[in-house]
Amino acid sequence: MGRAFVYVILGGGVAAGYAALEFVKKGVSHGELCIISDEPVAPYERPALSKGFLLPEGPGNLMTRQSSNTTAHEAAASAARLPSFHTCVGANEERLTPKWYKEHGIELVLGTGVKSADVKRKTLLTATGETISYKILIVATGARALKLEEFGVSGSDAENVCYLRDIADANRLVNVMQSCPGGNAVVIGGGYVGMECAASLVIHKINVTMVFPEEHCMARLFTSKIASYYEEYYKSRGVNFIKGTVLSSFDFDSNGKVTSVNLRDGSTLSVDMVVVGIGIRPNTGLFEGQLTLEKGGIKVNGMLQSSNSSVYAIGDVAAFPVKAFGETRRLEHVDSARKSARHAVSAIMEPDKTGEFDYLPFFYSRVFTLSWQFYGDNVGEVVYYGDMSGSAFGAYWVSKGHLVGAFLEGGTKEEYEAIANATRLRPAIEDLSELERQGLRFAVTA
Ligand code: FAD
Ligand code: NDP
Repeated sequence: MGRAFVYVILGGGVAAGYAALEFVKKGVSHGELCIISDEPVAPYERPALSKGFLLPEGPGNLMTRQSSNTTAHEAAASAARLPSFHTCVGANEERLTPKWYKEHGIELVLGTGVKSADVKRKTLLTATGETISYKILIVATGARALKLEEFGVSGSDAENVCYLRDIADANRLVNVMQSCPGGNAVVIGGGYVGMECAASLVIHKINVTMVFPEEHCMARLFTSKIASYYEEYYKSRGVNFIKGTVLSSFDFDSNGKVTSVNLRDGSTLSVDMVVVGIGIRPNTGLFEGQLTLEKGGIKVNGMLQSSNSSVYAIGDVAAFPVKAFGETRRLEHVDSARKSARHAVSAIMEPDKTGEFDYLPFFYSRVFTLSWQFYGDNVGEVVYYGDMSGSAFGAYWVSKGHLVGAFLEGGTKEEYEAIANATRLRPAIEDLSELERQGLRFAVTA
């Protein structure tokens, strides 16, 4: 059995949702487009899973929380449940419910994994045994969470060990958090998942210890000075940090639940639950040996086209040329998923009107009452500005005499736009101390 489509999007995450909207804007005909996803729900804004989704739900809980140590800002973000965060609400665009796909004649094949791909024959074989053929394929398979087993530790399947990549993980995490109020959690990993989940655990009144191998949190992006601001804030909310070591094993009770975490430095922590966020691997497996890979992802050109001209790749799985850096990068962030998706569809539907993808990397996070944004690249010398003992401060990165990156905590919408614009312009910087003196004013007037 089999079906044939002009366009097939493999994967049903953020990039798939934004690509679908762009296909409709560009006039795709009914019956031409199919999306295949192993998730059981239509594409949604994955960032919601570590933010609103994890916060306590319902007016009763909100009252309790607001009367305790939580703020209205934290409460306002709570109770995110589908269908409220289907794509593309995250970019203030239409919310694409299953009904929307139906109305636009887009075939949504959900809960169906693709087991193999044949790029020469232009076919995909699903787990249900169906062969789906395409003229153009967009690979939007995203990434999977790395498992502890890949670092030689077993126990990932224990009922109180949680990962966070999809909605099933998020539901599980919420249930486990609710099962141990006042209990102890260990968060393994000091990256995005670790930091955002730790904040939610605190809001659930769970005692948190974060364990990671680096000297400070968010080591891939933050300098130690920036990290110290967040670590101090987390400490003020009761979070304990154990740095420079990793998990070596778990102890279990007779039901297979983890009861303690043993660290390589010899210490042991007793736990009610564990959250693991130790990075991801792009889902490239179906295309190994068929498409050129680079930086762990599918290598594409400025039109998001892979080494096979009928196959495009977007989102976390794509390694694309970042013009501003003059090199190929793979980015693991939602803004790049949304924009690469739109660009690929434009390149497919309107090739003559579409230039090369020219993307300025943009990362952000929101936890507690904190909120930061980063644009560009974090290489070169760092110039700090603002008041690190207050609520708003930032940093610029200067490389080879040009401003290449900018970070701001606690900015307004206009200030974030200003640092984005300044980074895009890559102005020449002759005097670092003058940049420091001007601080945020430099970006606002650039
Ligand atoms: P995904 O959204 O992961 O979608 C991939 C899809 O492909 C999934 O539906 C998957 O099930 C499906 N799939 C994979 N293989 C197959 C197969 N063989 N057959 C069928 N289907 C398949 N970024 C930010 O910039 N800001 C944030 O605040 C932020 N928060 C995040 C919070 C969490 C908890 C997570 C996990 C990520 C967060 N991110 C954030 C990162 C952001 O969500 C990703 O960069 C984005 O989702 C990438 O989109 P994508 O479509 O490439 O991949
Ligand atoms: P990250 O890559 O952000 O962080 C992983 C962290 O785990 C790093 O600190 C890493 O250290 C550490 N680590 C690696 N191995 C071990 C180990 N054996 N024991 C303890 N710590 C270890 O990945 P996350 O898992 O936090 O996030 C997954 C994905 O989700 C990323 O793509 C991220 O971009 C995305 N995400 C983005 C958000 C946002 O943009 N706001 C929010 C949530 C998720 P080292 O650097 O030394 O390897």
